[in-house]
Amino acid sequence: MTRTFPDTVDVAIVGSGPCGAAYARILSERCPDATVAAFEVGPLLADPPGVHVKNIADPDERALAQRRSEGPAPLAADTSTDTMDGYADESFRLVRPGTFLLATGYRQPGEDGLPGAAMSSNVGGMGAHWTGACPRPGDSERIAFLPDLDELLAEGERLLSVDTHAFDDAPFADEVRKRLSTALDAGREEDRRVAPMPLAVVRHDDGRVTWSGSDVVFGDVTRANPNFTLIPEALVTEVVITDGRAAGVRVRDMGSGGEHTVRARFVVVAADSLRTPQLLWASGVRPRALGRYLNDQPQTVFAVRLRDVEPGPDEQAVPRDRPEIVRHSGVNWVPYTDEEPFHGQVMQLDASPVPLAADDVPVPGSIVGLGWFCAKDLQESDRVEFDDETDPYGMPAMRIHYRLTERDRTSIEASRAAVRRAAEALGDPLDDEPLTFPPGASLHYQGTVRMGAADDGTSVCSPDSQVWGVDGLYVAGNGVIPTATACNPTLTAVGLAVGGARHIAAKLTTERN
Ligand SMILES: Cc1cc2nc3c(=O)[nH]c(=O)nc-3n(C[C@H](O)[C@H](O)[C@H](O)COP(=O)(O)OP(=O)(O)OC[C@H]3O[C@@H](n4cnc5c(N)ncnc54)[C@H](O)[C@@H]3O)c2cc1C
Repeated sequence: MTRTFPDTVDVAIVGSGPCGAAYARILSERCPDATVAAFEVGPLLADPPGVHVKNIADPDERALAQRRSEGPAPLAADTSTDTMDGYADESFRLVRPGTFLLATGYRQPGEDGLPGAAMSSNVGGMGAHWTGACPRPGDSERIAFLPDLDELLAEGERLLSVDTHAFDDAPFADEVRKRLSTALDAGREEDRRVAPMPLAVVRHDDGRVTWSGSDVVFGDVTRANPNFTLIPEALVTEVVITDGRAAGVRVRDMGSGGEHTVRARFVVVAADSLRTPQLLWASGVRPRALGRYLNDQPQTVFAVRLRDVEPGPDEQAVPRDRPEIVRHSGVNWVPYTDEEPFHGQVMQLDASPVPLAADDVPVPGSIVGLGWFCAKDLQESDRVEFDDETDPYGMPAMRIHYRLTERDRTSIEASRAAVRRAAEALGDPLDDEPLTFPPGASLHYQGTVRMGAADDGTSVCSPDSQVWGVDGLYVAGNGVIPTATACNPTLTAVGLAVGGARHIAAKLTTERN
């Protein structure tokens, strides 16, 4: 941690979410001599840097950390700290604590837009607020031109501390899985059957389980690396390009307003799927595919009360605003397949996601929330554009063009039927109809700096995450994912970041030898 801006580093990283942190980690492991600086526009929330806010035990400190993540216009001070509050809300724009919505430009006349488009500005990015679901992509979600995808995903799992067995003893978790399996597993390949959801969590020796944030991705090796610096409240306004290659970054100190130029041989932009293309555009790097193929995963939710379950002898409800993960938090997974092209996330809740009658006390763990995600019908015309107007940070303002196609509408209808089928296998629905969220509410925006096998105008970067035609400039985050995925994307994005970081490490090592 420092307020001193270096003059020169080997690698400058923009953004400190899980993907920026993955670059810092791999470079610290593979090239400990390289100087690396990460610049983050948002504030440091707690120690260690990048910690998940739900690991902050004090409720007031946790609420403050969420407000400080919400960019230029934080939510009201007394907003709930529970990201599930309002989850079953039918409002046109859905905002979750720790995030902030796009103030303008989220919808153009006659289009669907992304009214739910949101970001986080803090050390750790959205990774300080996320749910940690880390499924592997399957079938057409996978990136066919990456032969080492599985190895990269395994590395992503190592960095995020992904665990499939953290909630094996959650009450009814086995029962939920059994009921789902019976209803849904027929015809599925073994690795695509109903399973416990892999979650990014850390199991401690004392039995506690905490959420992984960027702190876990950075890991001790990065924190102990004297050649690594993390500079919060530092907005990168431009990537300096000299003679067709990345040469550094221009940074604004958000505290003093001072401007700095930091020379760097490699620049990694890991500034989320909307702000990564924004920074490239502001830097004059504008390949045809920049900002295009934008996609979000249409999401439908439903809730049921498990049929025929009795509480165990010691079972007690735990209020949902308790910060630590409780054992009721079992999460099951219905994987995506090309035949059943939805990703299902089935979360047991110790309390209801929708209001129950005041005298209705559910058996702990018996209320189950189901979230079904669709893959978008990819369109080049779905895009984030920029112009001369500015956003509250003074960066080029965003204008989202986004439409749901007929295929998307059909797929959303099919996902509503699918979630209903899954719910009926479990118990009694709490509502008459599932609720489909406004576009953008999944918080899984992809494609805007997509990877491609060749520089043919349909992609922004190479399979190593290096921007076509700009030596030394790398992009990271969900925006790099080129396929239409329905599953939560962070594991895939971190895996791709591992590949990019190794590419830089190999170049640094070759240059040194
Ligand atoms: C409530 C919630 C639940 C979620 N659940 C899941 C889940 O279960 N599974 C899953 O896979 N995903 C989930 N997500 C999404 C997940 O958090 C993101 O996919 C992940 O954080 C993306 O990592 P990233 O590093 O690419 O970007 P981010 O985490 O968004 O980090 C980007 C960082 O870049 C910084 N930045 C932007 N522009 C600049 C600039 N110009 N200069 C300096 N810094 C800049 C931002 O402030 C931010 O901190 C969830 C998100 C939320 C909010």
